[in-house]
Amino acid sequence: MGGPLRAGDIFRHATERQIEEYLLPVARGERACCFSLTEADAGSDVRAMRTTAVRDGDGYRLTGHKVFSTAGPFADFAIVIARMDGTENSYSAFFVDLDGPGRRVEEGATPMSGEHIEADVVLDDCFVPAANLIGAEGDGMRIGLGRVTVNRLLHCPTLLGMARRAIELSLVRARTRTVHGEPLLKLQAIQHKLADMATEYYAARSMTYGAIAALDAGVRPRLEAFMCKLYVAETAFRILDEAVQIHGKEGLTQGSEVEYLFRKVRMFRVLTGTSEIQRNAVAKGLSMYAEVLAAGPDATNRG
Ligand SMILES: Cc1cc2nc3c(=O)[nH]c(=O)nc-3n(C[C@H](O)[C@H](O)[C@H](O)COP(=O)(O)OP(=O)(O)OC[C@H]3O[C@@H](n4cnc5c(N)ncnc54)[C@H](O)[C@@H]3O)c2cc1C
Repeated sequence: MGGPLRAGDIFRHATERQIEEYLLPVARGERACCFSLTEADAGSDVRAMRTTAVRDGDGYRLTGHKVFSTAGPFADFAIVIARMDGTENSYSAFFVDLDGPGRRVEEGATPMSGEHIEADVVLDDCFVPAANLIGAEGDGMRIGLGRVTVNRLLHCPTLLGMARRAIELSLVRARTRTVHGEPLLKLQAIQHKLADMATEYYAARSMTYGAIAALDAGVRPRLEAFMCKLYVAETAFRILDEAVQIHGKEGLTQGSEVEYLFRKVRMFRVLTGTSEIQRNAVAKGLSMYAEVLAAGPDATNRG
């Protein structure tokens, strides 16, 4: 699938028919889906999107051009977020089958990891039955961004796996590479790098486990999801950067595992919301808390 299942959170909003027809086949590995929110001129500022949905009889007609839909090249359907035509700020979410008139999947850009799993989804007066509307009309952005909240948390285990692998590769390299007749591992400068890498990995893993345990318990760790995506993506990047350093020219050589992991991990500071957007969201949460604190103990006690 090229990442965590991108359907997961949509279960909460789907009808029984949608679950049968779209989501369960994804869970069984029989169908694949992609998530199409981003456009060339609407990334962090998703509300700038130009894709529109116009009501037409018992359905909608969608027109627009989505980019960077991960898994697009092999997806059977897309979860598309579109602006309701004629509105400023009303968006809806749809299941859109990717075979049929008025829709095509085009070759997308190749990101720096070199993995070619992104595609453009181009909709041109594409008819979507009303039964494919996810949730209520106008709820699309809430549904889309809610999916992103869970998805951004579920990227963290992927990042932790890459960071752990980088630490293991670095330990092996430091143990087997000799300088001045001794393993690199004997140098305190290298030991300290490894100590920091392992410590930061432990912190990132602990916070991820905490937030995912809350999700499992039915609590929606919204703010924590932003914090985890921010911290884990930044930490994994720092760990990979040090791993490249420890590997010397080997780490900079195309085709070496650590070089590939470095390029791959770099993308996570941008995808599913950039680090800056995560910080904005955490700061917004803190501002709301500041309001409560400033309102005095009575308001604080009311939660
Ligand atoms: C490998 C990959 C896979 C992706 N997969 C998908 C997918 O499956 N589906 C999908 O819909 N999208 C996907 N995306 C798109 C991704 O979500 C966007 O790239 C991301 O949201 C950032 O948008 P942008 O690239 O347009 O950057 P921009 O929005 O142009 O941002 C550029 C810079 O400005 C900063 N910035 C922008 N606004 C603010 C602000 N308000 N405050 C502070 N800083 C700001 C950003 O943090 C960033 O550093 C994918 C992207 C990549 C690279």
